[in-house]
Amino acid sequence: MRIWLWFLGAAAALAAVAALISPSGKGVLNLASLLVCVVVAAVALRRRRPEPRAAWWLMCCGIAASATSTLLLSVVPGAPEELGAGYLLCYPLTAAGLWLIARRLRPWSSARILDASIILLGIAQLTWIFVLFPLLHRSGLKPLDAFGVSLIAVSDLVTIALLLRVAFAVRRGTVAWLVLASAGVMVCTDAFYVVKYVGGRGTVVISSFSAVGWLTWALLFAAAALHPDAGHALLRARKSRGDYGTPIAGFIALAVLGPGLLVADLVLRRGVDPWRHALVPAVLTGALMVSMVLRLGRALRDRVQLQQELAFRAQHDVLTGLANRELFRSSLQEELDTHREIGLLIIDLDGFKDVNDTLGHPAGDELLLTASERLRASAGPASLLARLGGDEFAVICPPETLDEIAAALVRELALPYRVAGREQRISASIGVYSGHPVTTGEALQSADIALYAAKEAGRNRAVRYHPALREAHVAHTLLADQLRAAVEAGTGFAMHYQPVVDVHTTRVTAVEALLRFTTPDGNPVSPAVFVPVAEEIGLIGKLGAWVLEQACTDAKAWHDEHGISVTVNVSGRQLRNSAFADEVLAVLKRTGLPGAALVLEITETVLVTASLEETAEVSRRLARLRAFGIRIAIDDFGTGYSSLAYLRTLPLDVLKIDRAFVHRIEEQQDKALFRAVVELARSMYLSPVAEGVETPGQAAVLRELGCGLAQGFLFARPLPAPALARFLAAQTAVTV
Ligand code: C2E
Ligand code: CA
Ligand code: CA
Repeated sequence: MRIWLWFLGAAAALAAVAALISPSGKGVLNLASLLVCVVVAAVALRRRRPEPRAAWWLMCCGIAASATSTLLLSVVPGAPEELGAGYLLCYPLTAAGLWLIARRLRPWSSARILDASIILLGIAQLTWIFVLFPLLHRSGLKPLDAFGVSLIAVSDLVTIALLLRVAFAVRRGTVAWLVLASAGVMVCTDAFYVVKYVGGRGTVVISSFSAVGWLTWALLFAAAALHPDAGHALLRARKSRGDYGTPIAGFIALAVLGPGLLVADLVLRRGVDPWRHALVPAVLTGALMVSMVLRLGRALRDRVQLQQELAFRAQHDVLTGLANRELFRSSLQEELDTHREIGLLIIDLDGFKDVNDTLGHPAGDELLLTASERLRASAGPASLLARLGGDEFAVICPPETLDEIAAALVRELALPYRVAGREQRISASIGVYSGHPVTTGEALQSADIALYAAKEAGRNRAVRYHPALREAHVAHTLLADQLRAAVEAGTGFAMHYQPVVDVHTTRVTAVEALLRFTTPDGNPVSPAVFVPVAEEIGLIGKLGAWVLEQACTDAKAWHDEHGISVTVNVSGRQLRNSAFADEVLAVLKRTGLPGAALVLEITETVLVTASLEETAEVSRRLARLRAFGIRIAIDDFGTGYSSLAYLRTLPLDVLKIDRAFVHRIEEQQDKALFRAVVELARSMYLSPVAEGVETPGQAAVLRELGCGLAQGFLFARPLPAPALARFLAAQTAVTV
């Protein structure tokens, strides 16, 4: 339904006819059309409620006011000229409507307001010089009329400015065009009317041109209100082309043009009283200058602000607003240059990666923000805070407050976080450093080493740097490199075997396979040192598989000949691998060693860190292996604190009692404790094995307490395979 188009066509035809019939604009047809337009517009506005509502209604009232004036002046015989005030009213109403639209389309910045007023003042100058002054000068109007005319001229200018503003800001569709055209027609018609008025020396003359103009104004507006798109058409902004900068050249041109033209004009119109003519342009020029100065000041301030903003961004982390790595480094350097002692903290959030991986990056960001707020609160104003990247933060602070701040941070950062609508717990590890480092690199590295030590020691703590840590760190890195190279090349590793004997007969019943590593420069490294490193760098899987293969291969002959078993140590990481059971069974198949001749030794510490599900998974895996006759031993019993709980949950056969229990077994108290452990093992159908037996006295106590199996230097040290083979052969020879 193109009702708006029909209406537009019909009304335009009517207006043309009306203008033909009565050129004065006072004809009935003309008046009737005007009233119809106003009523149609009002009804359409009431029913369709286009936005912004107030703007549409204000513009409609402007049309209504002007129509009322026309009606009264035409119908009432000898109507006083004051009724023409309705024409004046249409300016503020239309301008207010346009202002509201402009404001909704694009917010006014003070720079844009200043620009608009500068342009306006410039146009005003030209209008005065070329239009108004000649008009007023020639017409000889009464001062009051002259004032009224000037007022209308100013209103016209303001309306034009607003009209342009809307025209540039709105997305131009039919409705926008209709509204803009209607207001444009109004301004033109009124300007024409004013010219006529002045020409008629202050008498109201409604010409056919004015009449048609007003009618067009009304009917375009009514058509816009009728248009199906009217609803939000005036709220849709055009894509902004961004900031247009400061039009300095334009300013200079305007500043020169106005006064220049004025002077030229005065010279040309020699008869004119220069004071009367120059006063208005002088005021306008003054206002123009003030606006320009304000605008340039504003531009300068914007530029300074922009520079500050850019400088800030270049040195700060976008997410948290903390200093970034660059600013941190330069601040640290400045701190070093003072030659005072410096204090430095490096903070790493424990388990942050898990939050990021499971809850997503927005949640991770949320958590980082909260953490950075806590950092600010705890570090105090004397500190510089930085985000070094990811979940790593740094604090430079006075050395006196260093430990206090570190402790506060460990405490605060471990409090629960609200992230993605739920509670999340993570902790922080902190490396603490103070001293007189030579370079920023040295300071950072030292704090990093302390941070590493804090992680090693179990996280959620602060560790202070000391030189021994550096040595340990260097040694650790070196060892890690050596292990990688050794696994790659398949050199440097060997198996040793330590007999497990029957304490009554000292006959060997089993051997424990113990891994040995020798560095390329010939130094043996204890497995207690290198096994944790191998676990950390992810080598234990490969290494463990090799150990198993080697131990089963070596043990096959010993088992066949002497009926002994082999015990292999298994790391927690290996156990958590779902392929572990299959691998073990495959090795047995390859080597021909029966399952009953293999014992797997696990330590409880590997399970303490696992989740409940993981523990259950490991239990199932072990149970499967037990079905093939393989036995499971729990190693180092008594050194952990939750051993008893695991004794119940895991499928076990052997309990190896740690040498700490055996050490002072000859003393009454330890002997009683040892007896209790042996009884506990029996009650759970586990065979106890005492570790680390070094003296005949200890062996005697074991015999007395009925702990039949033992292992230790008293019987044999761990031996290379050939030596062990000789050991076994010698033993057999003795008994035979
Ligand atoms: P563990 O399983 O408790 O091994 C027994 C350790 O006690 C061995 O140290 C052994 O040499 C030592 N030992 C034996 N008898 C005595 C004694 O009478 N007195 C004293 N003071 N010590 C004795 P080693 O060979 O240095 O092994 C240390 C740890 O390294 C082992 O402790 C085990 O947890 C781990 N380990 C060794 N080989 C492997 C392996 O192939 N895989 C895995 N995952 N861990 C292994
Ligand atoms: Ca062991
Ligand atoms: Ca042990």
